[in-house]
Amino acid sequence: MEQLKNESETELQNQSEAEMRDEKYMKEALKQAKKAYALEETPIGCVIVHEGKIIARGYNRRNTDKSPLAHAEISAIKKASKKLGDWRLEECTLYVTLEPCQMCAGAIIQSRIPRVVVGCMNPKAGCAGSVLNLLDVQAFNHQAEVKTKVLEEECSLMMKQFFRELRAKQKMKKKSLLSE
Ligand SMILES: [Zn+2]
Repeated sequence: MEQLKNESETELQNQSEAEMRDEKYMKEALKQAKKAYALEETPIGCVIVHEGKIIARGYNRRNTDKSPLAHAEISAIKKASKKLGDWRLEECTLYVTLEPCQMCAGAIIQSRIPRVVVGCMNPKAGCAGSVLNLLDVQAFNHQAEVKTKVLEEECSLMMKQFFRELRAKQKMKKKSLLSE
């Protein structure tokens, strides 16, 4: 009985340790998202963790780089592959503040990343369960385990604040154009 209790306690402890670890790395992804924010880009950030260490970071630079490929995940996947000297990222976990789009979910499957941790969902474009779940198509040769809603509040608040500011800026611009 005592042993059973200890076992379930250890399990609980492991569970909360894993949760804390996921939150810790999501905070790092949020730091990346802030870099995008500072460039007036939609604030999306990503980190890739290998053997308990962050090996790659990335943030959205779509406007800055004038490229539809410049998503946070793609940039981090490129860096991680370079760092490990392998296109296969089989022992990595990818953390991203917003649910990946179809391109990034595709790159996650292509790079064999086994685990993806997502901050907030993207109902209109997300491909990790919202519009589609490209990370869990049994007909493909690889699937990734997905954990969603880690630090969801922080991640979605940052997005909301960004779009609120963007709308206010656009309104101001319109006003100043009208008064010219
Ligand atoms: Zn994407």
